[in-house]
Amino acid sequence: QANHDDHEFIFRSKLPDIFIPKELPLHTYCLGNKSPEGAQRPCLINGPTGEVYTYAEVDVGARRVASGLNKLGVGKGDVVMVLLPNCPEFVLTFLGASYRGAVTTAANPFFTPAEILKQAKASGAKLVVTMASYYDKVKDIKNENEDMVIVCIDTPVPEGCVHFSAVSGADEREMPEAEIEPDDVVALPYSSGTTGLPKGVMLTHKGLVTSVAQQVDGENPNLHYSQNDVVLCVLPLFHIYSLNSVLLCGLRAGAAVLIMPKFEIGALLALVERHRVSVAPIVPPIVLAIARHPGLDAHDLSSLRVLKSGGAPLGKELEDTVRAKFPNVTLGQGYGMTEAGPVLTMSLAFAKEPFEVKAGACGTVVRNAEMKIVDPETGSSLPRNQPGEICIRGDQIMKGYLNNREATQNTIDKEGWLHTGDIGFVDDDDELFIVDRLKELIKYKGFQVAPAELEALLLTHPKISDAAVVPMKDEAAGEVPVAFVVKSKDSEVTEDEIKQFISKQVVFYKRINRVFFIEAIPKSPSGKILRKDLRAILASGVYQ
Ligand code: AMP
Repeated sequence: QANHDDHEFIFRSKLPDIFIPKELPLHTYCLGNKSPEGAQRPCLINGPTGEVYTYAEVDVGARRVASGLNKLGVGKGDVVMVLLPNCPEFVLTFLGASYRGAVTTAANPFFTPAEILKQAKASGAKLVVTMASYYDKVKDIKNENEDMVIVCIDTPVPEGCVHFSAVSGADEREMPEAEIEPDDVVALPYSSGTTGLPKGVMLTHKGLVTSVAQQVDGENPNLHYSQNDVVLCVLPLFHIYSLNSVLLCGLRAGAAVLIMPKFEIGALLALVERHRVSVAPIVPPIVLAIARHPGLDAHDLSSLRVLKSGGAPLGKELEDTVRAKFPNVTLGQGYGMTEAGPVLTMSLAFAKEPFEVKAGACGTVVRNAEMKIVDPETGSSLPRNQPGEICIRGDQIMKGYLNNREATQNTIDKEGWLHTGDIGFVDDDDELFIVDRLKELIKYKGFQVAPAELEALLLTHPKISDAAVVPMKDEAAGEVPVAFVVKSKDSEVTEDEIKQFISKQVVFYKRINRVFFIEAIPKSPSGKILRKDLRAILASGVYQ
């Protein structure tokens, strides 16, 4: 619904606003509303082992972790780093830290030691929860800060580390009550946003409660999860899409969340069949893998009710293929951005009383929020059907970037609008279509690659005098990073040397796919890389 308020075109949900209990701490909001019968229902199912944890067990487990964290010196506002694949310990640590009034910053366990160290230092983490096999990756953190506590969930526990049972085995009655304010930070994911290096995104209790409520609360919620659903948690919990829209939404709704530590198509289909999964929130590459899997017919997937795609664009053709293969499944998209809490829009095909939706649409704006589309040049808001930068306002968005006021002010304007750096338009039926990306960000299978990070690494190479990294389209990954490089005077360097130089320093999806040598990087008079020009050079096919 568009209102022309104060000369602005503002879009709101077609569904009515709802009451949101914003004063509740996140863990109370997600776990505290269960009936005695609901508390005995399955909450987490550990995919590899089949072990089931009820809501009551998860709640007491989280309080024990809070008590254990306290004993290890984690106080209110302290940061706990989680470096784990999806597993019950991840969930208990996140909820336990929330009970303690602490903040969780999760990182990709595939990160290199240098990438992990960067996030640990920037976030000010006091304790790391990880696995013994990752110890080599985290020992640099301990070398830099000998007070750092390293907790391993498995054995053998390396010397100087603590086993998770020391945390989860604490007495919940000794958990100190943390006085939690709605504006306290609870999650600190890292994202590069519209420009520059990855930054800590401060998501508060109020922000996440609001975001989850916008998705699953009310009479006719945007996302109709119920306690009869089994929700597939295959997307990594260190990304806010999975933490929020899979785990927290699942918990709030009282559903069973089926945890898978890593994506493998055969195992995924077997788990869907075995546990009668009804809701699968996934990303386009997984949609593609399902659609193309030759052994699909060998599995009974009749329990599937909802396939939700987000994190990156889903092509219309793929959408049509999936619809044809799964005629009884509701397929739709959600659109999120870490800084936005993360969900901005969601398909109303998922509502309890669903609306007719169009292929290619990313959904309509969630309830209790406002969206506008602005002209990136003039900043003025645009009416329907005109593409511009997507902006969002509401209690769900981030509080700001940690220790970075400038980047915060460049992202959230004085009126509270968060500027996404995505280009899209709203059509006559309130549906959002994303058509381009204004920002630098590259998305490899939904994972973030920040060009600035790779450019900074390239510039440390003695034979490189200048560099710029841009996305190149790729069928399997969506996009891959490619580099334009200016060689230093009188030096010779090959594409392979540069690729290897980078791949040693970064997680696999940040590896540079191609290197193109160029005379000079096109720049604006103020020295900004003209990425659009480089993308146009790539599109022209001059470099193959
Ligand atoms: P992240 O912060 O890692 O969630 O990345 C956010 C970015 O992913 C957005 O700003 C978009 O550029 C992109 N994105 C997320 N969901 C979608 C979608 N459904 N369609 C197109 N792009 C998307």
